[in-house]
Amino acid sequence: MLEKTDQEIEWLRASALLVSKTLAEVGSLVCPGVTTFDLDKRAEEYIRDNGAKPGFKGYNGFPSTLCTSVNGQVVHGIPSRNTVLKEGDIVSVDCGVLWNRYYGDSAYTFSVGEVSESTQKLLRVTKECLFKGIEAAIARNRIGDIAWAVQEHAERNKFSVVRELVGHGIGTDMHEKPEVPNYGRRGSGARLRKNMVICIEPMINLGRKDVIEEKDGWTIRTKDNQPSAHFELTVAIGEQKADVLSTFAFIDEKLKPNLAS
Ligand code: MG
Ligand code: MG
Repeated sequence: MLEKTDQEIEWLRASALLVSKTLAEVGSLVCPGVTTFDLDKRAEEYIRDNGAKPGFKGYNGFPSTLCTSVNGQVVHGIPSRNTVLKEGDIVSVDCGVLWNRYYGDSAYTFSVGEVSESTQKLLRVTKECLFKGIEAAIARNRIGDIAWAVQEHAERNKFSVVRELVGHGIGTDMHEKPEVPNYGRRGSGARLRKNMVICIEPMINLGRKDVIEEKDGWTIRTKDNQPSAHFELTVAIGEQKADVLSTFAFIDEKLKPNLAS
């Protein structure tokens, strides 16, 4: 069922908020010297302490709680003790939870210390692409309206859109219909209806759009090794505007520069 009941949306909101808080918890640990394994360990503890289960662990055989994708890695990176974050890196952290039978799924790309100006712009524009997509996530629009909004903003800024991976519906399955691509034509694709719940997740590259799979069989990275950014939120389609179920507010709160110091 593509449209959720109001009760289902509240369960999805609870899972989405737990993911949002987990990302903030992880983000507060991101600094030079930390490993992606450390981030993963903390995320799993935090999720289980809150009475939920990691949504990704064991999903299609994925081994970890988080996907951690560094620099030229786009998505599905596997946390590792050997991956030590260093000043100037970026790390996309994608997290899923399963709570009360409903999944939550969101992602944020964190800077490790100071990053280059071009990478800062990539992060800013990718987040803006997500919010342009969310603005188009209203009843009677089509999937293509979201896709076009994301693509147009990315390409206007001379970045490129990953084609091979897409957003998705979410519910009692992590990946439900419809697919939500980050490129496409306005007015094309499935019609959006009130209470459909979807994850919008632009994956935007600094260089060319082409990606390849690494030898681990999971990690997707850019073919030209240029950085890639990824931000994801879960939204319920509304009549006038989307109801955004997950949030970056906890991250903004935790990462706010401490003005007192
Ligand atoms: Mg997703
Ligand atoms: Mg995700």
